[in-house]
Amino acid sequence: MNDTQFKAWRVAEQDGSYYGSEQILGIKDLPEGEVLIKVSYSSLNYKDALSASGNKGVTRSFPHTPGIDAAGEVIESATGTPAVGSQVIVTGYDLGMNTDGGFGEYIRVPSAWCVPMPSGWQAETAMIYGTAGLTAGLCVQKLLRMGAGPEQGRVAVSGASGAVGSVAVELLAKLGFEVVAISGKADHAESLKELGAADVIGRDALADTKKPMLRPEFANAVDTVGGSPLAELLKQIKPGGSVSCCGLVAGPQLQTTVLPFILRGVNLLGVDSVEIPLADKEAVWKKFAEDWKCPTTEASAKRIGRTDLDDALSAFLKGESAGKIVLDHKA
Ligand code: NDP
Repeated sequence: MNDTQFKAWRVAEQDGSYYGSEQILGIKDLPEGEVLIKVSYSSLNYKDALSASGNKGVTRSFPHTPGIDAAGEVIESATGTPAVGSQVIVTGYDLGMNTDGGFGEYIRVPSAWCVPMPSGWQAETAMIYGTAGLTAGLCVQKLLRMGAGPEQGRVAVSGASGAVGSVAVELLAKLGFEVVAISGKADHAESLKELGAADVIGRDALADTKKPMLRPEFANAVDTVGGSPLAELLKQIKPGGSVSCCGLVAGPQLQTTVLPFILRGVNLLGVDSVEIPLADKEAVWKKFAEDWKCPTTEASAKRIGRTDLDDALSAFLKGESAGKIVLDHKA
């Protein structure tokens, strides 16, 4: 097996710039690990775009194969669990950051990173949801655990057309919530309604007002953008409401007063999909395979090949990407 060669979309540094291209690697080039996986699908995530553009907070050294998630067949297993021949999902931990990731046809990882494929699912289905879907599921799960319910009023989703936001919109709508999608893409209003959004409003709803508090518009929210829009969103949450916060596309800084927290009892819930215990990931995957199934997300996901990665990743950095994009290694 060690002599086997495979293709990977690898990013290299040249004079301070970063370029991705298809390279031929050997299994022996992969890092040490217990489980060798033949990857059939990966999915595209904002963090992959950061890695591919040389963001040292994500990937310290190059050349490197991005791809923070992967699904495929176990080819070798030093521990016997997962079993050779079984299908697995790997998301988060160090995959695609400083461990070669799913943009290669093979990965080698610790067995503790591998979730068994939910029954009835193929690798492609798993990667249609991907890390972004898992994160949307975790955001919704946190709201539900805080007691959020449709009867409390409208729930907002920011960055609604994005990979995390779009799954959050469909899942919340499926669970009976009246979803207000907040999006900078006017031309995506229709597709957001198809996902189940009751209303689609522009990003200016979260423009910097400099006001300490605003009229409470939303019972709860999923925020995928962070920065100043999150600060504005917190000012618009009804008493006792909660906001799940998972992203930073609008910036990592959060400048807020304590007023939403002490005047309205608003809860800000942090969501991490990367380092949480494997069992917590497995539970959310199982939900998506059963009662959280999102048919529109599954039907509308876009498939691309390795040669399309450059353009698709650039779109993430410009905030132009929309919906779920799956990397098919056979394409
Ligand atoms: P996408 O790029 O697919 O979606 C982000 C969306 O945010 C865009 O489509 C756009 O939606 C909106 N947006 C982009 N730029 C801005 C801006 N400057 N101001 C306001 N809105 C903007 O990314 P993902 O959905 O994959 O990821 C979203 C965030 O979640 C990222 O920061 C990512 O790192 C984070 N993340 C965190 C995880 C965790 O474990 N905590 C796991 C996965 C992702 P629209 O045009 O509709 O407004």
